[in-house]
Amino acid sequence: MKALAKLKAEPGIWMTETAVPEIGHNDVLIKIRKTAICGTDMHIYQWDEWSQATVPVPMVTGHEYAGEIIALGSEVRGYEIGDRVSGEGHITCGHCRNCRAGRRHLCRNTEGVGVNRPGAFAEYLALPAYNLFKLPDEISDDLAAIFDPFGNAVHTALAFDVVGEDVLITGAGPIGIMAAAVIRHIGARHVVITDVNDYRLALAERMGATRTVNVSRESLKEVMAELDMHEGFDVVLEMSGVPSAVEQMLDVINHGGKIAMLGIPPGEMAIDWTKVIFKGLTIKGIYGREMFETWYKMASLIQSGLDLSPIITHRLDVADFQQGFEIMGSGQSGKVVLDWD
Ligand code: NAD
Ligand code: ZN
Repeated sequence: MKALAKLKAEPGIWMTETAVPEIGHNDVLIKIRKTAICGTDMHIYQWDEWSQATVPVPMVTGHEYAGEIIALGSEVRGYEIGDRVSGEGHITCGHCRNCRAGRRHLCRNTEGVGVNRPGAFAEYLALPAYNLFKLPDEISDDLAAIFDPFGNAVHTALAFDVVGEDVLITGAGPIGIMAAAVIRHIGARHVVITDVNDYRLALAERMGATRTVNVSRESLKEVMAELDMHEGFDVVLEMSGVPSAVEQMLDVINHGGKIAMLGIPPGEMAIDWTKVIFKGLTIKGIYGREMFETWYKMASLIQSGLDLSPIITHRLDVADFQQGFEIMGSGQSGKVVLDWD
């Protein structure tokens, strides 16, 4: 089968021929129809320090996808050949304490599809049936292909009560933008989003942010005054991983505020802990998606009218994958979807 793989320990990604994966008793084989390029794939493409330490070579990459089940392991129940599916890319152990308590997203033995086991940038993917999510008819393959990052957005957006609250999102990457759409849809008052990239801020505005702030030239505090927000934000979703954004959010959050941290900083990051203490802040780290509560919420949010379609800004044939990676790297895009059919 055709697959996009990390073949060499150097920047780049290559189209290759590899064997169709075999499935075990509890697995299914998925014919991949659409995939999307994630920030993680960009890191693997660029071969940064994290990738070098994490990804064995050769490795088929990719973990954002939608497809169709074409084979079932002998023990698989509840699915049929022909079912349209996406799936959770975190493969959990099932025997650690958190797994046994149903908190699979906190499994200490997690493996990642397309990171340290063969991924979805391929004609076929073998996946434990446990990880599947069956797609309702009204959710297109394109949209289902971005359920993994949409799940990051939903998991973070729903970490704290935002109904009637003033919410700051730092970072208008695809995940921050989708979080803005969710937060607005479920009834926050001000949904303010920051970035340094005008293309992405414009997309965030189109998708539900009530105010965008380019922090490279605008003052967030002036914007707050203009919005009559004198006390500060009630909830902050940190979705940039940029230390200066974290520092800024600690300044503008109200006393008793809640912070959900999704963005991954480049390394160790110092913060002013006195702000956390004297403001009585709550900080929660967010990893992945809750299995599978976040997945059900994603489908329901779309079924209740949330329109995510503008976030997919580019659709390409998989043969043009190099161009796809270049577009993602340029910052002038939302999600880039590759067609495998
Ligand atoms: P992204 O890199 O596309 O988005 C980050 C955005 O932050 C960019 O648009 C960038 O321009 C912006 N930014 C840069 N400087 C800024 C500043 N000073 N203030 C505000 N914004 C600034 O990433 P993404 O794919 O949208 O993901 C968002 C973050 O979440 C990334 O850090 C990613 O690594 C992380 N992530 C975490 C998990 C998890 O499970 N915790 C999963 C997926 C992604
Ligand atoms: Zn586990």
